[in-house]
Amino acid sequence: MISEPWYHHGLRFRCTRSGNCCGGAPGVVRVTAGDITSLARYLKVSDASFQETYTRELGEDELSLREKSNHDCIFFEREHGCLVYQHRPRQCRTWPFWRHVVSSPKRWAEEAKRCPGMNQGPLHSAEEIERISQDDGTFGGTGS
Ligand code: SF4
Repeated sequence: MISEPWYHHGLRFRCTRSGNCCGGAPGVVRVTAGDITSLARYLKVSDASFQETYTRELGEDELSLREKSNHDCIFFEREHGCLVYQHRPRQCRTWPFWRHVVSSPKRWAEEAKRCPGMNQGPLHSAEEIERISQDDGTFGGTGS
């Protein structure tokens, strides 16, 4: 018998655009080829130029957005928030329903301490959370 996830009643989240997940400490924002194409189109540059200017290699076939010297994401502005919000990478769009974040109530509660949008806003069903977390864009890693 398959047991229900701990969040079987769903979880609440609404992005408040606090930027807490966008900087302040060293992190990783993984980008897929699709993310690169979307962002490059938005910025009106070629995919190759985008990759050269805005990404760094993590390892074999894995790229992350670059960070500024203060560890903020290259696209995060303290006064304006995410400059590419409508085209942000999948990893950013699937937060906080990442596999490792929803892996336990303890982990969820830990992450909620720094994300004011968690446990607020609309209720997301267990089915939706399962679907998102299975393809969360973190490539199995721990994200930022
Ligand atoms: S792309 Fe935007 S949402 Fe994602 S980490 Fe950078 S500033 Fe934040």
